[in-house]
Order: sequence, then C-alpha cells, then structure tokens
Amino acid sequence: MALQHDIRRAAELLRPERWRYAAGLGALLGVNVSDVIAPLFLAVAVELAESQLAGTLPSTPPPLALVGLETQMFGIVAAVAVYLGLQVVANILRYPMLMWTAVPSHRITQGVRRSITNQLLAQSQPFYDSAKSGDLMSIATADVNAIRMMLGPAILVGADTLMLVSLVLCVMFLLSWQLALVTLIPLPIIYFVTNRLTHMEYKGFEAVQADLSEMTERVRESYAGIRIIQGYAREAFDRDRFRDYSLRHYTKNLVLARVRAAFDPTLDFMLGVSNVLVLVFGGIWVASGQIAVGTFVAFLFLVRYLAGPMIGFGWSISLVQRGRASLERLRVLLEAPIEIYDEPDAAPIDAQGRIEVRDLTFEYAAKADEPGVRPGLHRVSLTVEPGESLGVFGPVGAGKTTLARLLTRLYEPPRGTVFLDGVDVRDITLDSLREQIVLAPQETFLFSSTVERNVALALESVPSRAEIEQFSRLAHLHDEVLGFDAGYETMLGERGVNLSGGQRQRLAIARAIAADPRVLILDDCLSAVDAQTEDAILRSLRTVFAGRTGILVSHRIRAVRDCDKIVVVEAGVVTGYGTHAELLEAGGYYAQIATQQLRQEEEDVAAQDAS
Ligand code: ATP
Repeated sequence: MALQHDIRRAAELLRPERWRYAAGLGALLGVNVSDVIAPLFLAVAVELAESQLAGTLPSTPPPLALVGLETQMFGIVAAVAVYLGLQVVANILRYPMLMWTAVPSHRITQGVRRSITNQLLAQSQPFYDSAKSGDLMSIATADVNAIRMMLGPAILVGADTLMLVSLVLCVMFLLSWQLALVTLIPLPIIYFVTNRLTHMEYKGFEAVQADLSEMTERVRESYAGIRIIQGYAREAFDRDRFRDYSLRHYTKNLVLARVRAAFDPTLDFMLGVSNVLVLVFGGIWVASGQIAVGTFVAFLFLVRYLAGPMIGFGWSISLVQRGRASLERLRVLLEAPIEIYDEPDAAPIDAQGRIEVRDLTFEYAAKADEPGVRPGLHRVSLTVEPGESLGVFGPVGAGKTTLARLLTRLYEPPRGTVFLDGVDVRDITLDSLREQIVLAPQETFLFSSTVERNVALALESVPSRAEIEQFSRLAHLHDEVLGFDAGYETMLGERGVNLSGGQRQRLAIARAIAADPRVLILDDCLSAVDAQTEDAILRSLRTVFAGRTGILVSHRIRAVRDCDKIVVVEAGVVTGYGTHAELLEAGGYYAQIATQQLRQEEEDVAAQDAS
C-alpha cells in the first residue's frame, strides 16, 4: 500500500517531465541494444577466424579478390568494424541519455523546492510553534537531494538494469538456452539477498535522516544561542552535548555504511559465481562440440554486461529506498494543513481603521504534555474608533501580545469576534488585512541586508532616502544610523552589524511606520529604550498616529497614559477599560501600578536633581 502511494507520488512529480524522460530512456535503449549486439559481431569474427584455421574456405568473390581480400578476412574486418561502429553509436547516445534523465530530475526538484517555500510562507504561526527549524532545513536540503537521486540516477540505472538484463537474457537464450539457464542459477539468490539488504538500508537511512534533522536543529540552536552559552560559560556542556549527538549520528551512519559495504561485494561474489559457471559449463560444451566457440565468447562478454547492472540495481534500489523515506517526510511537510488562510469569499478591504473585539475567547492549542488550563484570552470586548489610540496594559504573560496577534490573524480568532470597519477579519484577505493592520512585534528580526532595506521591508520598492530618513527620525533612530560607518548602507543581521536591543526596537517601529498602515500596533516596542528616548518616541508617535488607529501594548504606565482609551488585561481577562484618569479613579491593578511607577519616576527625578 505504502509502496503504491509512493509510486503514485513519484509519478505525479515525474508527469510534467515525461517526454524528456521518454527521450532519455529511448536513448538508453539505443545504448543497450548497441552494447548487446556488438559482442555478437565479435562472435562472428571468432567463428570466421576459426573456420579459416580449419581451412574451410569458400571461394573469394571477384570484387574482394581485386582488393586482395579473402572472404574470411573481409568477414572478420567487417564484423570488427560493425562491433566498433556499435560501440561508437552507444557512446554517442550516452550523452542524450544522461542529459535527458539528469536535467528533468533537477527541474523536478527545483519545483519541489518552490513548493516547500510556498508551503513555508503560507504556514501560520501555530505551525511554527511546533515545527523544528532543523527538520525544515534538512527536508529542504538533504531530503530534496535524496528525491533527486531517486528521480535521476536511480531511474536511469534501474531502467538500464531492466533493459540490459532482458536484452542480454534474450540474446543468451537465442544463442544457447542451456548456457543461459546455467547463468541464471544464482539469480534467485541475488534477488533474495538484494531484497534483504535494501530493506535494511531503508531502515538505516530513515534513522540517519531523522537523526540528521535533530543534529541540525541542535547546531542551529547552539549558534543562535552562542552568546548565552558563552555568557554562562556553558561551552563545555554544549560541546559534550554535541559530542553525544555526533556520536549517535556516527553510530547510525556506521550501521548504514555496514549494510552498504556488504552490498557490492555480495553481489559481485554472486556474479563471479555466474562467470565461473559459464566458464566451466561453456568450456565443457565447446570441447564436446555442443556449442560453437563464438557462442562461448559471446557469453563471456554478455555475462560481463550483467555485472554492472546487477550492482547498479542494488544501488538504484537503495536510492529509491532513500528517496521514498524523503518523499514521506516531504509529504508530511507539504500536506501539513494551513490553519490560517483566505476563506473562499474573503475580500480585500480599504479600511478607515475601526477595530472592534466582541466577546473574544481564545486558547492556544494544547501541547500533548501540557494538561490543564490553557493560556489565552477570555471574553475580551473593546472598540477603537478610526484615529483613536488604545493602550493595552497588563502584567507579563497577561495576554497582551495574544490580543495583538489575533487582530492581525497571526493566530486565528473565532468567527464573529474581531472586526475591522465592521467586517469580520476572517472575511478579509490576509494580504489586505496585514496591509491595513501592521504589528511591530516585541522582538524583531533583522535580515542580512542594509539598514535602508530593513526599514523598507514592507514596501515593494525602496523609497527615496529622504523618506527612509523621515521614518527613522520618527522612530528616533536616524542620528544613530548616521553614526554607523556606512550609514543607511550598513549591513545588518547575521553577516553584518548587530544592533542594540533599543536600536532594534526602534528599527521595528521605523519599519512599521514605513508600511503606512491604517492600524498600527506597537507591541512593547519601547521596553528597551531609556525614559527620555521613550518620551521622545511617544511624542513623535502622536504625529504617526494622527489620522490612523494606534494600539500601544506595554506594561509601563508612561507609555499608555496618553492614549484615548486603555484596556487592562490580567490573566487573559479585561479588568479595566477607560481613560488614564478613569482607571486611576477606578482603583485596581492599573491605579496600583500607576501609583508605584509614578512615585518611582518622581524619586528618580528628585535623585537626579540632588546630584
Ligand atoms: P509580556 O508582557 O510578557 O509580553 P503578554 O501579556 O504579551 O506578556 P502573551 O505573550 O500574550 O502575554 O502570553 C499570554 C499567555 O499565553 C502566556 O501564559 C504565554 O505563556 C502563553 N503563550 C504565548 N504564546 C503562546 C503560544 N504560541 N503557545 C502557547 N502558549 C502561548
């Protein structure tokens, strides 16, 4: 059943390239026919030479006599010439044969890579919560390569084996069915042993591949966390942990290598047995006159032709087994359901920016090992009119980010709970929604590109330098960028400069401003900047928020107090909703934290004045 599925899947991949494959296999047939027929002409030459030695000469036709050739000699020369000619034809055909099987396999895997990219781009946040980067990386590299090897070399060698073996056997049976049967004696054993070994190889490869994913993930994690590892002097621990992984991988590879190493010699040995049988029986039958010397010579050549494909067959079966394991891993990735997608009747929107949340309850998907209450939001309702600003305030882990993510459908809110301009966000196309509502996340990502391109990430084309500078000025990043050696051309990210936490946050704000959305959500984007910079940014945010809806997520009073409305979220529940003054008056968590934070600020100012 699984094999049938795999064949169907492989056939689906092959279909668009079927004509190229057909041409390649046609060329392969030409190569094989030439190869198999060629020794027959050697047999003819041997027979003619033998009859010349025996002196059974027919009369030489006059044209041959004119050029001084005897019939036999002519026959021998002609037979050798045909033999050589066939070899030339076979070698010329080898080029299209290889090209027309290799090129489509590369084209198919290029398509597979495109599908992987599309799938990964279409996948939503919940998928990435459980996916491991190491797994994804090894599917996109090692598994795609294993699939290519199955669709290229394995098909070529497999077809070569089938064609060559059938042709060779046909010719053998035509020449001498007795000697052909003798050659076949070891074949059932070859089949049995190959079957066993390929099964072991499949299992071994599956184990190695799964292990490789885990190791890739481990390496990725170590690189990503290198500062923490060095900061806590955990290098030795990390080294030991990696050594254990590496050792385990080595052991699994060793098992696979053992199976692989047993493959060729075993097949070689069994083919050697075939050779010996032909020599022994063929020799005896030639001596007793049962078969001609030419037939015996042709058999010796033909048996040699069997060796290559038999060994190649084992190899191609092992490639197919590896390819099947990889195809399965690819299937799991490509068939992973996309949880957040455009509904069939979803439409784009040109919004004013009115946000309404109605009785929103949301839970994160449970992990298998996490029973009990699941975090999320419970019965949240609020409204933000176009042009208004909303502060989302609450302690750590309260659900503030969750609310921001649900507004942009990074996680899917239940139908009928989140509306943009009165339209359920689930009825709006994702592209359009995320153009209208932009979320600058708590932790941003810098791409390996220039400051300019990082700021202009959301835009189709990089705007003028003056505009980029304006976005950066609003985020209070401009002066610092001018301090970099290459200014806005400075490379960031893995292959460039790394920004400070505060600079990253401000770049995230500049990036969001550049996107020019109707609704701008800043999720705790000011937590890593000092109080003065925070005040300055908050002042320029007033300009940015003018004419658009602004949502500021923070657990600092000074960040939210000037917002038109503030919603207080605690443990996923709204515990306060109103203006700064109203919330102070109402008492509760907001008032309590406000008193603390404002008193602290006053003390800080007094301390500064005193010094
Ligand atoms: P902070 O101020 O620390 O950023 P927050 O108020 O933004 O906190 P959220 O990030 O919304 O809090 O998290 C709310 C709760 O949901 C927390 O208990 C958190 O552990 C949990 N949570 C957040 N993201 C996920 C997720 N992807 N899967 C499962 N639980 C999550």
